[in-house]
Formats: sequence, C-alpha cells, structure tokens
Amino acid sequence: MTRVLVIEDDPAIGRLLQRSLADRGDVVTVVTDGASGLATALQELPEVVLLDLGLPDLSGLEVLTMLRSVSQVPVIVVTAQDDDRTVVKALDSGADDYLVKPFGGEQLAARIRAVLRRVAAAEAADAVIQVAELQIDPITRRVSLADHQLELSRKEFDLLWLLASRVGEVVTKRDLLAGVWGQPFGGADRTVDVHLSWLRRKLGETAAEPRFLETVRGVGVRLVDPGAAN
Ligand code: CA
Repeated sequence: MTRVLVIEDDPAIGRLLQRSLADRGDVVTVVTDGASGLATALQELPEVVLLDLGLPDLSGLEVLTMLRSVSQVPVIVVTAQDDDRTVVKALDSGADDYLVKPFGGEQLAARIRAVLRRVAAAEAADAVIQVAELQIDPITRRVSLADHQLELSRKEFDLLWLLASRVGEVVTKRDLLAGVWGQPFGGADRTVDVHLSWLRRKLGETAAEPRFLETVRGVGVRLVDPGAAN
C-alpha cells in the first residue's frame, strides 16, 4: 500500500490512474491543478507523486521545481509530450522517472515499485547503524562506542561500516578486500587481519575475547550484537 498523489487535470486520465492504483491497494488522491498539487503534497506527504506536465494554472515543470525546493518525494512525470527536450528538462528539474501517455497499469505499477526501491536503498545507505552501544554514521563518518567517539582511519571506518551493514552475517576476507580495498582477487596478504586487529583495539576488545568482531575461522568475520543471544 502506497500513498500516491496524482496531479492531473484530465478527468478521464485522473479516474483511470485512480482506479488502476486503487486496484493495487494504493491510497490515491487526485487533484487537478498545480497549486492544489503543491498544497496536497505538503499536507498529505505522499510516498510518490504522479505529475502531469500540462496543467491549467502552473506548468508541471514549475510545480516540480517548487516541490523540489521543499520535498524529496519521488516524482514520476506523466506526459503526452514525448519529445526529448521536455523529458530531459523534467529529469533535470528533479523528476525521478517519466511515463509517456498512453501507458498501461502494469507499467505504471512497475515504475512506482522501481522508484520506491531506489528511495529505500538510498535511505538505507544513509541511515545511522546502531549495534548495541556502537553507533556508526555513514554521512559524518563518526563512530561512537557508549557515547565515546572513536578515532578510526579511513580504512578502519570502511571495514567497520561494511561489517555493520551486514550485521550478524559472516563476511569473507575476500569480500572485505573487495569491498574496502577494491581488490577482488586479493588472496594471502594480511591487510584485512592487520586492520581488524587495529579496529578491535579501538573497540576495546581482542581476538581472544571478542565482543563485536567475531572471527569465524577459515571463513571470515562477522559483527555481532554482544547483548543479543546467538
Ligand atoms: Ca494535462
């Protein structure tokens, strides 16, 4: 179930979109001009906006520009004009995707799923990860342990981030070499082990008495929540 705002002045197309989306269980609001579209977008906080480019009051591109100054909601532009210039302008103005009329309900649903997936992936990539008292912020690249800030090198941070974003999962040394050092075929060198031991020291633990970083002999390492039952 997705909250969708449709900004479309053609009543027949508006009804068609509403029916097609409501059939999938979406909650749909249809408005027929740009000003109402902006107001509704701010009031109802939809998850996706379908925006017709030819509106009676403002142009769809104007609506898009104004919307983008206050909201990051995904916008799929719906246009009868399939000329490249219009589409390029819409994408440059912050549209996430576009559909050229006429289009089927299946394609509409697939485009909506695709933008929502991208949004979810982007949000997950930006989210602070918290494992017990360990907190890792990918934007500021700050790491704190029980409210004490840790000073990590760039590689130590990348290593910790990779492990934390797959918490509970054993990550092979090969994957760590590829993900952190960009060496997909790295084999015998001790780079990972050395950085892991530095990271352990900063986390206040040792290989013999691990808390967060658990070595799985011959396989790799995983980051665990020390408070959680295994
Ligand atoms: Ca129109």
